[in-house]
Amino acid sequence: MPELPEIEVICQGLRPLLVDQMITQIAYNNKPLRNPVDIEKIRKEIVFKRITSIERRAKYILILMDNGATLVIHLGMTGNLGVFPQESPLAKHDHVQWTLNNGNQFRYNDIRRFGSIHILSAAETEVREDTFFKTSGPEPFGTQFTANYLLKLATNKKVTVKQFIMDSKVVVGIGNIYANESLFRAGIQPDKPVKDLSKPQWQALVQTIKKVLRHAIECGGSTISNFLNASQERGYFQMNFKVYGKAGQPCPQCKTPLSKSKIAGRATFYCNKCQR
Ligand SMILES: [Zn+2]
Repeated sequence: MPELPEIEVICQGLRPLLVDQMITQIAYNNKPLRNPVDIEKIRKEIVFKRITSIERRAKYILILMDNGATLVIHLGMTGNLGVFPQESPLAKHDHVQWTLNNGNQFRYNDIRRFGSIHILSAAETEVREDTFFKTSGPEPFGTQFTANYLLKLATNKKVTVKQFIMDSKVVVGIGNIYANESLFRAGIQPDKPVKDLSKPQWQALVQTIKKVLRHAIECGGSTISNFLNASQERGYFQMNFKVYGKAGQPCPQCKTPLSKSKIAGRATFYCNKCQR
């Protein structure tokens, strides 16, 4: 499952290949994704329109067009995007192809088809935060994501801090690995009820979350540098994890063997001594 840093890197990789290109044609094999693909509406909104920018919101890739419409792509579990010369043969599980006026083709590949492709008209794009992204919390790099915001939201709540930061209504894009790593670096016990965190702890957590995600994006930047004809291989970036997957190994700070438990069914790694 691609996480926020990977989606961010994909957006960075796509920008030089897609921005300023005009979409001249769209092909679709009619296989359903997680939601039905409204290919007629997609054609009507974006054929012969030019791509002006590419943005990320939560784990969605937003491709903005010069008429104000937005193509919204979610990669689900196994979705992948690539840009190829138009004449290169399609790969198995290539479901949608957008032909560009420079002769390249932008392709969506998805083995398990849990991804989704939506189109928002110009009017729908304008209200996207109140409709399409209504249940999405703030961005971790956004100005809204602060210690005060979390402190207020956590008042009287008993949910564990790990579940809380992984809840996309609280903040988007913090998956299991990044939650584990951030809590370790902030020195916070993952199963601590959120009502018991102090303001300095929230401040430390907000800072580490930003740092951990930014580091992952930097690590990934080199992984997907050659996006054109990129292989369909994917995986987590070669980031150095301090605790994730390291149960029983010595804590990088105090050498105590790291512990493992489950919180809300998700593997949780922590140091009993360093995290409080
Ligand atoms: Zn430790």
